[in-house]
Amino acid sequence: MQYDLFSSEHEQFRQQVRKFFAQEVAPHVAEWEKNREIPRKFWKDMGAMGFLGFCYDPAYGGVGADPIFRVVLCEELARSMTGGIAVAVEGHNDMATTYINLLGSHEQKLKWLTPCTTGEAVCAIAVTEPGTGSDVSAITARAEKKGDYYLINGQKTFITNGHYGDLLVTAVKTDPKAVPAYQGVSLIVIEKNTPGITSRKLEKIGGHSSDTAEIFFEDVKVPVGNLLGGEGQGFYAIMKNFSLERLVICVLCVSIAEAILDKTIEYAQSRVAFGKPIAKHQVIKHKLVDMATEIELNRALTYQCARNYAAGVDVTKEISMAKASAAEMANRVAYDATQIYGGYGYMAEYDVARLYPDLRSVSIAGGTTEIMKEIVARLMGL
Ligand SMILES: Cc1cc2nc3c(=O)[nH]c(=O)nc-3n(C[C@H](O)[C@H](O)[C@H](O)COP(=O)(O)OP(=O)(O)OC[C@H]3O[C@@H](n4cnc5c(N)ncnc54)[C@H](O)[C@@H]3O)c2cc1C
Repeated sequence: MQYDLFSSEHEQFRQQVRKFFAQEVAPHVAEWEKNREIPRKFWKDMGAMGFLGFCYDPAYGGVGADPIFRVVLCEELARSMTGGIAVAVEGHNDMATTYINLLGSHEQKLKWLTPCTTGEAVCAIAVTEPGTGSDVSAITARAEKKGDYYLINGQKTFITNGHYGDLLVTAVKTDPKAVPAYQGVSLIVIEKNTPGITSRKLEKIGGHSSDTAEIFFEDVKVPVGNLLGGEGQGFYAIMKNFSLERLVICVLCVSIAEAILDKTIEYAQSRVAFGKPIAKHQVIKHKLVDMATEIELNRALTYQCARNYAAGVDVTKEISMAKASAAEMANRVAYDATQIYGGYGYMAEYDVARLYPDLRSVSIAGGTTEIMKEIVARLMGL
């Protein structure tokens, strides 16, 4: 289907990203997945190509690109046929550095946003804790103001880029007695090499190339100048950025599902069973049609959300619908694809098999499907 979302500049950018990913990423995916690590060179190359922080002001290394360029990058990331690289890049680009851009002072942006745009620094957003994820206001990591520094104690978990990353945009309670509780949440940039921080890389069922960490803060001293915005502004910023975070997850879901479908059609047309390609069996044919239909439906809603988001329209309700729908759709497509691949669908050396566990995270991270429906229900007045 034709959409008028992308201009010729967007398409030009797409060609650059596609070429870079084909040459510099695709040949290394298996190795990075096996090593459970994306090399630093990748980040620096991405920065040098202008693929990080391009939406930010030129003063911080960006070009002030519109948000549709984020959609393009995300679609092309899906071509790497791994959820890990996509999540690591999106975590940095659209989920973590965005807070420095949203709340940071000029000095803070010069100090942190610039190296994130060049790829010298990798950034993480640390909100989730062992005791709470969906309920952000219930975090307990504590930042106590002591003169010119905050003393930070607490723990975070499931943090993308949290082990190898350099900057942690961390949600803390600066006022644990605030009523309502969310008014006590603040965001502080913590440099990963600060004394008192330890981390452990978590072993996941998929998305292996991205690092996902558990992080411990024990009497960590951070200058008061590392606070983003004012005390108590953290929760509002997190809720505000969720629209972008969910938009890029929707784009990833649709694009990865489409990449899976393309591979599956190719496979079904070449695999012969009972004297003909399995794609000629009606049950398989219909399954492929259902997959294609679901992808198109989700793409239409996602693109409409992208268009409205770029125009500054509040898309909280529609993007929550889209996130719930696209994440569940991507899981279904991956499940059906592995079924069509038969035994090969269970073998990790096949892209489709690898993407099946990778996609399991999309209905959990960035807000679960249940939480998306809670948001939509509230906005429907239910
Ligand atoms: C691969 C991956 C990467 C991640 N990256 C990051 C990151 O970079 N930074 C970060 O801060 N976090 C990250 N997360 C954490 C993620 O955001 C949380 O896992 C998610 O928000 C859910 O929180 P939880 O795991 O604590 O589950 P819980 O909040 O404990 O929920 C458990 C279950 O209960 C359901 N539930 C909870 N409340 C309700 C309700 N009101 N109504 C109905 N059902 C409900 C949930 O839907 C879920 O099914 C990541 C997670 C994954 C898997």
